[in-house]
Amino acid sequence: MAGQEGKTIAIVGGGFSGSLLAFHLLNRCGPQDRILLIERNRRFGLGLAYSTGNSNHLLNVRAGNMSAFSERPSHFVEWLRGLQAEELAQLAEPPGPTGFVPRGLFGRYIQHLLGDRIWREGRSRQLDLVTDEAVALHRRDRGWEVELAMGRRLAVDEAVLAIGNFPPAGSTPGYHGDPWDANALAGLAPDRAVLTLGTGLTMIDTVISLLDRGHRGPIYALSRRGLLPRVHLRTQGGALPAPWVFEEAPRGTSLVKLLRLVRATCREAEAQGRGWRVVIDGLRPHTQRLWQELSLRERARFLRHLRPWWDVHRHRTAPQIMERILEARDSGQLRLLTGRIASKDRRPGGFAVTVAPRGGLPPLSLVVDRIIDCSGPRTDCTKIDQPLLRQLLREGRIRPDPLRLGIEVEPDGAVVGRNGRAATDLFAIGPITKGTFWEIVAVPDIRVTCEQLAARLIPVPAAQVTARAS
Ligand SMILES: Cc1cc2nc3c(=O)[nH]c(=O)nc-3n(C[C@H](O)[C@H](O)[C@H](O)COP(=O)(O)OP(=O)(O)OC[C@H]3O[C@@H](n4cnc5c(N)ncnc54)[C@H](O)[C@@H]3O)c2cc1C
Repeated sequence: MAGQEGKTIAIVGGGFSGSLLAFHLLNRCGPQDRILLIERNRRFGLGLAYSTGNSNHLLNVRAGNMSAFSERPSHFVEWLRGLQAEELAQLAEPPGPTGFVPRGLFGRYIQHLLGDRIWREGRSRQLDLVTDEAVALHRRDRGWEVELAMGRRLAVDEAVLAIGNFPPAGSTPGYHGDPWDANALAGLAPDRAVLTLGTGLTMIDTVISLLDRGHRGPIYALSRRGLLPRVHLRTQGGALPAPWVFEEAPRGTSLVKLLRLVRATCREAEAQGRGWRVVIDGLRPHTQRLWQELSLRERARFLRHLRPWWDVHRHRTAPQIMERILEARDSGQLRLLTGRIASKDRRPGGFAVTVAPRGGLPPLSLVVDRIIDCSGPRTDCTKIDQPLLRQLLREGRIRPDPLRLGIEVEPDGAVVGRNGRAATDLFAIGPITKGTFWEIVAVPDIRVTCEQLAARLIPVPAAQVTARAS
């Protein structure tokens, strides 16, 4: 138990990060402690990534790497195997560690974990699920007061920002800034032309949705370099491919040296018949440290020159999804364009767009009914129009990290204010901490920070932590 009086902890954001943190806190808290999980969308446990209802939107990570618990890597696969027969029948293949399952199913897994802990383990008195938007955090003598959109105010000792991926830009008629909005494709005639801005994983989601609804018209996908995410290999047998083990831990002293090392190791892995993917996966345990070792200048150089290449090799897509994308490309329906928009004019029912291709080729004119921004979540918190962020920035409680990847935090998640000092009672987890960790957007990394932050917020001896994961 966390002390005789107990404490109240608010978690703002009930996506994967906030829900998993709540789960771990519940394992640690005593009868006097309270956890408030505040989510504005009623989608506890799902967040942006796992609320898709399209069963062809698959996880881009193999099921064997998606356990909510770093020390029980097979937990998600075991949960999948325990599904009802009719649910199992809807999966393309029997659940196993190397497979890719629908993202919505992963959301259900997180909801199940949380629900199980609350109801089966009788923890409902410790956890309040609050459906509302947190619009401000006011300083109290001790702790914070969370102001909700409906006007309620909740006094807490500590607060955690788990507000996740910032929403994409706003929408105007025919232009959809939010590709995950259920209305992004609504009313689109199946033979009309669509332009996606971005050629990464979000574009892939959008194209899969278009194909699923029988779209026959042309789909243009535009990005500066026109790079498609690479694909995970189909595996033989049921074992996960073993990541490369570096003989000597790579060091982040120089970006150029690091790049040379990665390239040389990829060549070695290729020569051994293991392929480059195991090297990228083998970097994973080192990536956060490497990022922190690199100077700010080197990190900025990485973002400027290497990031697009890193992203497509690191964030790969499931083979069955890529097959559909390549089929659409080979049939001529999907055209990948390299360049930028030179002009965009509204016309009845859509847009006339001029694309300036890379490499000085002649401009390309397109007429499209709809433009969908698939460039991914935004990261510059100073440009996000959300009441909570605006208030925290205005009052200097948070500040953007120097590269505008999110907000600045210490390695333990403590939020750094405008005065450069780390708070002792305000923390952040998940994608908004990317400036400090870089490799922190996916489940295998977020789950570790949830475990560590829970241990810091409610430090109890290991024997008192509820032993069972579910
Ligand atoms: C489309 C997509 C697919 C992905 N696929 C994978 C994958 O296959 N495998 C993988 O490992 N990772 C994947 N990821 C990475 C993903 O970011 C993480 O896995 C994880 O979902 C991040 O969770 P989160 O809770 O931090 O953020 P989010 O999922 O964004 O959740 C944040 C929540 O906070 C709420 N919120 C925000 N502000 C407030 C406020 N002021 N008051 C109340 N509530 C608020 C939001 O409504 C939201 O529900 C994917 C990401 C995306 C965007």
